[in-house]
Amino acid sequence: MVFSGKRRRRAARLAGSALVFFLLWTSFLFPATVRADGPPSEPTAEVEVTADALNIREAPTTNARIVGVLYRGQKVTVDDLTPEGQTIDGVSTWYHVAGRGWISGAYTRVIRGWPVVEVTADVLNVRSGPGTGYAILGQLRRGERVEVVHLVRGSPYNWYRTVYRGKVAYIAAEYTRPASVWPLPVSYRTITSTWGTRIDPIDGQEKFHDGIDIAAPSGTPVYAFRAGTVAYAGWNGGYGLYVRIDHGDGVTSFYGHLSRVDVQVGQRVSLGQTLGLSGNTGRSTGPHLHFGTWVSGRSVDPLTLVSRP
Ligand SMILES: [Zn+2]
Repeated sequence: MVFSGKRRRRAARLAGSALVFFLLWTSFLFPATVRADGPPSEPTAEVEVTADALNIREAPTTNARIVGVLYRGQKVTVDDLTPEGQTIDGVSTWYHVAGRGWISGAYTRVIRGWPVVEVTADVLNVRSGPGTGYAILGQLRRGERVEVVHLVRGSPYNWYRTVYRGKVAYIAAEYTRPASVWPLPVSYRTITSTWGTRIDPIDGQEKFHDGIDIAAPSGTPVYAFRAGTVAYAGWNGGYGLYVRIDHGDGVTSFYGHLSRVDVQVGQRVSLGQTLGLSGNTGRSTGPHLHFGTWVSGRSVDPLTLVSRP
């Protein structure tokens, strides 16, 4: 459209007031909120046993005393691991089963990976131990993301253990915030439809697809990709059974076509918490998870906020 003279100025004024109105409206819908992530929590992952029987041992070595046993298909939360290649037997990573003991990682598969944090300081030192007296191995910049596997509580800082350039390393937890986890078990990583304009698979029309479709059989656990508060839980038109999480800093995520919802509106959920089970409800052509994210009221490609495993 081309405007000239008076009409152009009038159009510009109109556009200006429309913009002001839009900004007021979005600030009403998405008010700036204080981050509610709270103090750092112990990083955990979830693994499933793939051997018929798997001993739990007192220490991360096959020489250590057996203190329990797990069986094929059992899923356990683990809260620590030995770094690859640095175990006494040198064979595999060992995981620490929360409150129980150590299991060999060779007989497990990862269901939910370790949390990822993102650096909130301009520059963050990476150290060889959990304290400011330890050697500096390198530096991370604002926005860089690292996987963390253990928390060492301390003062004035709490320290996350991570791996930096192949070495065990520590970063001050206070200069990070939780980034995100993949919203399904990591083995479900096939994206069958990307974010953005696409040809609708049902009516063949060009439409905007406000999320990514990840293939998963019905009944697969769906995880909160970040911590937050449940803003919607229930049926939502074409999305079918649906959960929306407000992450408290302008980021919202939603999960559609579920077969079951396990959370309620107002409930606080942690990073990686199960929200329900994936399914095929609503306007869907087959079992999958429709995962969408908004930043400041605008749909964004979820892959800009979470990395595909
Ligand atoms: Zn979709």
